[in-house]
Amino acid sequence: MLKFLKQVGDYAKEAVQAGKYIGQGLAVTFDHMRRRPITVQYPYEKLIPSERFRGRIHFEFDKCISCEVCVRVCPINLPVVDWEFNKETKKKQLRHYSIDFGVCIFCGNCVEYCPTNCLSMTEEYELSTYDRHELNFDNVALGRLPYKVTDDPMVTPLRELAYLPKGVMDPHDVPDSYRRAGQLPEEILEKSEK
Ligand code: SF4
Ligand code: SF4
Repeated sequence: MLKFLKQVGDYAKEAVQAGKYIGQGLAVTFDHMRRRPITVQYPYEKLIPSERFRGRIHFEFDKCISCEVCVRVCPINLPVVDWEFNKETKKKQLRHYSIDFGVCIFCGNCVEYCPTNCLSMTEEYELSTYDRHELNFDNVALGRLPYKVTDDPMVTPLRELAYLPKGVMDPHDVPDSYRRAGQLPEEILEKSEK
């Protein structure tokens, strides 16, 4: 008899627990029913990446001094710096430079440590190709000016959540004049210098 009562008690406990979990799940569902959709209709609409986004690396050939610091600080020694010694000027002369974005982890170390600032991270993130060898960018491809969502007439740029006014979840129909929720890097710098 006692065993039977214990089984009934356990069953009732489990039923209450299951009801609690169902209630929690439905609470999340009902909460989302009150929110506006934030779907981006890619590729007709694209989000503007944040200022510190680490996208495709841009390289300025004329500024490079072939010091190979970028290779040494790269966790996988990725950049290929092909140079020769110019006996007349007694300086290294850069011949080719390449980075394979199929292997790069976009950590930004090379950009951070380059002494002549000839490397920079852009907001370009659409790098997919059918052939992975096409991801090996030479100095010409690296020197190409980056694609900008805001410059493309075929695309409607949308502001990312960090750019939206406080409390607004939908980037559609937010006028450009609206103040963004976060601070711009120059505003943060200005504050820290005071
Ligand atoms: S660190 Fe900069 S200057 Fe030196 S080789 Fe790399 S890209 Fe060129
Ligand atoms: S971003 Fe990082 S992984 Fe890519 S080349 Fe630079 S240092 Fe190497």
